[in-house]
Amino acid sequence: MNNLKLHSIQIPADAPGQHTQLQYYTLSPPKPSAKIYIQAALHADEQPGTMILHFLLQKLAASKHKPLAQFTILPMANPLGMQNIHLQHHTGRYHSASGTNYNRQWPDLHKLVTQDNHSLHKKLSRNAANNRRLILGETKKWLKAQTPASALQAHRLAVTSLAYDADIVLDLHCDNNALKHIFTFPQFMPEYQDLSDHIQAKAVLVAEMENSGTFEETWINPWLKLARQFPDKNIPPPPFSATIEWRGQGDVGETPNKKDAEQLFHFFQARKLISGTPPRPSRGAVARHFNATQVLRAPEPGLLDYRVKPGDRVKVGETVADLVALQGPDAFRGRTPLKAATSGLVLSTNYHKYVWRGASVAKIVGSKPLPDRGDFLLED
Ligand SMILES: [Zn+2]
Repeated sequence: MNNLKLHSIQIPADAPGQHTQLQYYTLSPPKPSAKIYIQAALHADEQPGTMILHFLLQKLAASKHKPLAQFTILPMANPLGMQNIHLQHHTGRYHSASGTNYNRQWPDLHKLVTQDNHSLHKKLSRNAANNRRLILGETKKWLKAQTPASALQAHRLAVTSLAYDADIVLDLHCDNNALKHIFTFPQFMPEYQDLSDHIQAKAVLVAEMENSGTFEETWINPWLKLARQFPDKNIPPPPFSATIEWRGQGDVGETPNKKDAEQLFHFFQARKLISGTPPRPSRGAVARHFNATQVLRAPEPGLLDYRVKPGDRVKVGETVADLVALQGPDAFRGRTPLKAATSGLVLSTNYHKYVWRGASVAKIVGSKPLPDRGDFLLED
């Protein structure tokens, strides 16, 4: 039996009478070998991760195996987003007051710890461990000096303060209707192939993102940028940070999430972050650059009639869905085939069949870079 501790941080509201509690758990041996940070539902309408962490907490509490690392676990990382209920509909992706995507515009810690701080350069050395302490120390100093101007900022400051010194950061999301997949930076692969193997990921999509402001990149970029800025110093590698898209929004329940939690537990065992030896996993997907994944979008509003489902393989030119016209001379009679621009695995489709112009229809994981993917690889 392991002793999980429940913590609570109060986030003052912008409006009267609506303070929010951010609750999370920690579990640690007296001398942890590393720090692991896991959160779910930063996009508050993506619930599989919350259920997975529910089962992971149960397993951690009941297991005879001991934690060797410190675990910080936020099953509901974004209580602000849980409040976004409008007309009986929950929209958890955007902050309702500002329109901010909850997984964008996270602070650029590199800029923040290096701005007006000319002394950092002088203090950095060839000693990686000292550099790490120094950089984390500067980050902590910056975090402590902040006075949030809104509930959203207070929430981000609370979460950043819990995650900034972790060695592994896992951000659990989900797609709309999809297979399990991982987003991370190419620098981590194939070193972290074992995560893909243990959770049986169907795709690992890698891209080095610099200015998207996602939660995932917040923990990676400061270290990469410092290493480029000071090539003569020994800047340690970044912590491992990944976004795991845990299937689709409806995939919440004991099946399949209890097994998902066990797979994560086994990954931690394999990494010697929890005692015991896990079963040997079979091979998960290997990394592919995200610019080889087609994001098929609706060219006009319509009703989708899919020809494929997640898990199917398509060839270039094959019809993914027909789009039934909802307006114009062909209204309710015409069908436009929407075709695959690459050969590969159908990773996701849209649960909603009414789509508007620009709405995502499917993601197809190919192996050749697609010229129209451009620099911005995220959906929004
Ligand atoms: Zn998400």
